[in-house]
Amino acid sequence: APWDYPDFDDHEGLHLFRDRESGLTAIIAIHSTALGPAAGGTRFWHYPAPEAAITDVLRLSRGMSFKNAMADLPLGGGKAVILADAARTKTPAMIAAFGRAVESLGGRYVTAEDVGISTADMAEVAKQTKYVSGLPVAAGNAGGDPGPLTALGVFLGVKAAVRRVLGRDTLADVRIAIQGVGSVGGGLARLAAAEGARLVLADVDQARAAALAEQLGGRAVAPADILAVEADVVSPCALGAVLDERSIARLDAPIVAGAANNQLATPEDGVRLHARGVLYAPDYVINAGGIINVGLEYLGKGDRAEVEALISRIPDRLERVWDESAATGDSADAVADRMALALIGRG
Ligand code: NAD
Repeated sequence: APWDYPDFDDHEGLHLFRDRESGLTAIIAIHSTALGPAAGGTRFWHYPAPEAAITDVLRLSRGMSFKNAMADLPLGGGKAVILADAARTKTPAMIAAFGRAVESLGGRYVTAEDVGISTADMAEVAKQTKYVSGLPVAAGNAGGDPGPLTALGVFLGVKAAVRRVLGRDTLADVRIAIQGVGSVGGGLARLAAAEGARLVLADVDQARAAALAEQLGGRAVAPADILAVEADVVSPCALGAVLDERSIARLDAPIVAGAANNQLATPEDGVRLHARGVLYAPDYVINAGGIINVGLEYLGKGDRAEVEALISRIPDRLERVWDESAATGDSADAVADRMALALIGRG
């Protein structure tokens, strides 16, 4: 039963929805509303079995609690998944039914985009409920594409790490290896290059990495090599679970700071990084720029300047995590989790 799932134990609620007419099956998990409405995106995904969907939504909703708390947002944590069939059939009727499901929770859960969901889908959801963010916005307002703002937060976090480890105030001549040069990694590359960083880029789309290296100065390497490049900073900006026993043993950089969610394959890998003396920026602390943007949009605190002001506090939060990690000997990710739990009253 769902309440037997270990990840359910610390949740406030787990809601199952079915709409026979449209074929919608959806799950909404609410981890915590201690700081405000539970906010987190909706994932549209084909799972091999419903059990996998439940485990996924529970872990993701807890992650949103931690992320929103550490971003100083007055929002709790939740997440939704829509269970797609193997052909990933998605209809407007299904999305509308999902919007009604969100509405039925009366504002305890606020949704946004995640994997498999587009801005257009969110516009459909918004016809059924006001508990939604991540809608198209006018220029100058909070909201819209979070990628560039996530990149800004990661850039500021990288600078804080470089100041701490190398004692340098700018990224001039700092060697930064970026895994994945999409929306966030590409944005980081541009900001770092503008300060004179020496870039090493990799992407499974090798032409994309080569073109960006050519444009910004720097070199592209094969995706298989990027995490082992000799550098000052390694920045995972592609996939999760890339930091494992093997990749950590091959690291040749004193700092790991990037945007990808869930970079550590297991909590032991956080301990491994710490034991190797690598300064690690916990992913959900450094990559909060996007959620800050979406969160302020939802809260109606509209403008870009306010979003950037909150993002500019990311380095302070990282410093607090690193200070406590240094003082206690605990890994940075464990310290961040502890701080987040205290913030939501579970300390
Ligand atoms: P994106 O899809 O725009 O870019 C990802 C890039 O990584 C693509 O160019 C892709 O080809 C490349 N890639 C995929 N697998 C790779 C591999 N094995 N090696 C090298 N490159 C690979 O995605 P994004 O929006 O830039 O997000 C990047 C990461 O940051 C994701 O993990 C995402 O969850 C996380 N994140 C993004 C945001 C945001 O605001 N976009 C916010 C928080 C976290």
